[in-house]
Amino acid sequence: MSTEIIEKLKRAVGPEKVKTDEATLNERRRDWSVTNALADMQGRGAPNPACVVNPKKTEDVVNVVKICNENKALLVPFGLGSGCMKAIHTTPETVLLDMSSMKRVRKIDKKNLIATFEAGIRGADAENAVAKEGMMIGHYPQSIDVSSVGGWVATRASGQFSSAYGSIEDVVMALEVVLPNGEVLETRLTPRAAAGPDLNYLFLGSEGTLGIITTVMFSLRWKAEKREYTAFYAPNMEQGFELQRYIIQSGWTPPVMRQYDTSETKRIFEAHARGDDCLLIMVHEGPKGRVEAEIKECQEIAKDLKCDPAPTEAVAEWLENRNNVHPWETWLEQDIILDTIEMAATWDKIGPIYRNAVASLNKVDGMLNATAHSSHCYRSGINLYFTFAAKASDPLKMEEIYYDCWNRVMEAIIEGGGGISHHHGIGRVRRDYMPAEIGESGVNLLRKLKKILDPNNILNPDILIPHE
Ligand SMILES: Cc1cc2nc3c(=O)[nH]c(=O)nc-3n(C[C@H](O)[C@H](O)[C@H](O)COP(=O)(O)OP(=O)(O)OC[C@H]3O[C@@H](n4cnc5c(N)ncnc54)[C@H](O)[C@@H]3O)c2cc1C
Repeated sequence: MSTEIIEKLKRAVGPEKVKTDEATLNERRRDWSVTNALADMQGRGAPNPACVVNPKKTEDVVNVVKICNENKALLVPFGLGSGCMKAIHTTPETVLLDMSSMKRVRKIDKKNLIATFEAGIRGADAENAVAKEGMMIGHYPQSIDVSSVGGWVATRASGQFSSAYGSIEDVVMALEVVLPNGEVLETRLTPRAAAGPDLNYLFLGSEGTLGIITTVMFSLRWKAEKREYTAFYAPNMEQGFELQRYIIQSGWTPPVMRQYDTSETKRIFEAHARGDDCLLIMVHEGPKGRVEAEIKECQEIAKDLKCDPAPTEAVAEWLENRNNVHPWETWLEQDIILDTIEMAATWDKIGPIYRNAVASLNKVDGMLNATAHSSHCYRSGINLYFTFAAKASDPLKMEEIYYDCWNRVMEAIIEGGGGISHHHGIGRVRRDYMPAEIGESGVNLLRKLKKILDPNNILNPDILIPHE
């Protein structure tokens, strides 16, 4: 990239907000995806961007976007880099827009239960700000300590308590977004609207390709009066799915509903595993009377379906350890290639997809672990979160094995009629499966939208939409 563009950026936003030092560039090159981590380990990682810009206000973002647009320079927004889909992978031509410098709490409105945050605020800081006032956003992704609220919107995230409190689209009320031509769009702060298509949805899941999210307004909840736990054994995944379906279709909404297959139950809940059973753990939250009624009904439903109660210590242990994760490198350094793949499907399709995906993964040479759990439950279906880990006989084959595993799971999902992603998004890893998800007409529509909004193709151009 020409130094002229970097100089223009410095003049527009102030030189202190445009960094070109090696340490900053290196830190902002990539997201948390396994392939990025593997490429780094093998000495072929993402090159440094040309510069990292730290905007402090929306006007800074507008100035950066306008300069990049006029000069046709690549612009990649970065929240906190916890994305798993290789959506951030810079080149020496990239201007990296580090949104983590826009991290103010703008307003907490107790009467209307609305909080307004700058998009780069860390999720945990946003949640703590409202928790101090007795409220909650209710969006608790495992990455809450390492992800931004703008990143949540851009990736269409889902939190661990989603079965009652919804995923990110259910808590976003309004957005401020800088469009690729520098215009600022503010969506209306209203509990509901019938004013044409909902423009928030244009940016939910847009992964930084259609605009820069600068402000996020969330609808809040008062903190729950009571929290209790239940857990049940199910003889197999299908029976556990039935138990969850009956509970949720009866109108009960435990915010946490997580069902682990036999292998994951033995691996994660060693002390509580019973034979080859699967384990369902649930958190019940809300007004005291409703929690008590919900537990009683869930116990009745479980009894009818012959699912025995399991120790609730399993739930307490999960809550305690739920955000502890090892860096990918722990395994990659042992030539073990691994990842997680989340998806969703309707109730009639989920069982066969689970069986076929796991069976296909187990055919991969060196497969150590091919398992799944569900963690987000809906009236019309459920998600699954597959985990695979395979030992490579040749470390240079790790990436090939990685994509073979992904392909097997994607094929099982597509053949089984499921949706290819539940909450991690698309990035580069899933991009070429998009035609199977939304059809050629869906892909063409996304291409047209991208061309209209971003005719110079400056915003994170290599992800989400397959190349023509
Ligand atoms: C250990 C771990 C656990 C995780 N658990 C969960 C989970 O429980 N639920 C879940 O949904 N996800 C989870 N994730 C995935 C990840 O945390 C989410 O995708 C998160 O929403 C990304 O936020 P971020 O700020 O880190 O975004 P980044 O990784 O920085 O960016 C992600 C994408 O959004 C774009 N982007 C970021 N900020 C903006 C902005 N302000 N405007 C426009 N585009 C932007 C980027 O260009 C990129 O395409 C997990 C990841 C890890 C590593």
